[in-house]
Amino acid sequence: MKKEFLDALPIIHALEKEGYEAYFVGGSVRDLLLGRDIHDVDIATSAAPGKVQEIFSKTADVGAAHGTIIVLHEGEPYEVTTFRTESDYENFRRPETVQFVTSLKEDLKRRDFTMNAMAMDKDGNLHDYFNGKDAIRDKKIETVGNPEDRYTEDALRMLRALRFSSQLDFAITPDSLEAINRLASLMKHISVERKLIEFDKLLKGKAASAALDLLQSSGLIEFMPGLGKGIHGWETFIARTLPPALGLPERWALLLFDLEVEQPKEFLKQWKMPVKRMDKIHSVYLFLRKRLKNQWTNLMLYEAGAETVCLTEAICESQHDWIQKTGAEKAAADYSRLPIHSRADLYINGNELLQIAGNEPGPWVADALHAIELEVLEGRLHNSRNEIERWFLRWSNQKGM
Ligand code: ATP
Ligand code: MG
Repeated sequence: MKKEFLDALPIIHALEKEGYEAYFVGGSVRDLLLGRDIHDVDIATSAAPGKVQEIFSKTADVGAAHGTIIVLHEGEPYEVTTFRTESDYENFRRPETVQFVTSLKEDLKRRDFTMNAMAMDKDGNLHDYFNGKDAIRDKKIETVGNPEDRYTEDALRMLRALRFSSQLDFAITPDSLEAINRLASLMKHISVERKLIEFDKLLKGKAASAALDLLQSSGLIEFMPGLGKGIHGWETFIARTLPPALGLPERWALLLFDLEVEQPKEFLKQWKMPVKRMDKIHSVYLFLRKRLKNQWTNLMLYEAGAETVCLTEAICESQHDWIQKTGAEKAAADYSRLPIHSRADLYINGNELLQIAGNEPGPWVADALHAIELEVLEGRLHNSRNEIERWFLRWSNQKGM
């Protein structure tokens, strides 16, 4: 058994010791069969959430109503979820409440795709009631049961089908694809938060181009914030080759670039991204546009900052037909050689300028600081107290201050 499972094995033992069933389930079992890296080893059990809390000393209740308790074991969090069905689907999305059941098979039956509906017991035996292993062998994404029913229960599954096709380069079965084409509009019931999780994974997948193409041909794209009717540049974006090393911020920035989004902040806000994440993508997008018009200048490097410089240049490097690459490494080196990296690195500050000038505060302070930054960055002024002071006296004289 692989280390990730061995580490979690004591949880299964503890549940079984109390007379309950417990199995590894979902993504980790799928990824084991696929030979992919394993993360998030989830466990399903016949024990009710309250029992799970009793059995383990360190737990966190993240969704007991849905049957999920986090068990902390050797510092690692594991999701332990009680066998359940989700029969009362309302409004084409996950139900608010679930029914706990006692059989593993019932639990596996509510899962989305056959490859995600397998369990593995403590001895490494596979419990595969829906032929998930065959689906993996045949590289296909098929729903557990009738696709139309399963997508109507929870419309997000349609987008999940596309994201798995992107991550694994598997084909969605024809009847599933047909159901997606027909039911795409049910996506309007799904929250943007859930869409973003899947869209990110789709965007990062190795077969992203084909999945993005499906997103459009199926009509699901209409329910992705900012990507509906009237966009252009989509074809350009999906025709790109995106190397695996290219991260998500870079991919989002490239998407904005190809779509020539005029109000990037507004666009990203619709996706309800955390502010920090939004700012990063926005910044890379702005500098990507600048960078394609000019080589890096010291001022551009300075304003962009180390991270944006690297990410922007990584995008340039990834696109073979884009000329005049600096290369992320060289750009990073150029950045680190800048005489200053922030205003705080100047040997003079606003208060000192006020004293030297003996003038009232005003917008001129910011203007002066900006001008000094530029002189220092362009190598025309040495960053020392004396030289800056002399330069400033000349500058203020010219300004008639
Ligand atoms: P990843 O490796 O990206 O985390 P995953 O298969 O673990 O993939 P999760 O979203 O973490 O995907 O979900 C864990 C498991 O829960 C899935 O493997 C699947 O069995 C089940 N599942 C998740 N979302 C749904 C859904 N919307 N409908 C039915 N089953 C679902
Ligand atoms: Mg997972």
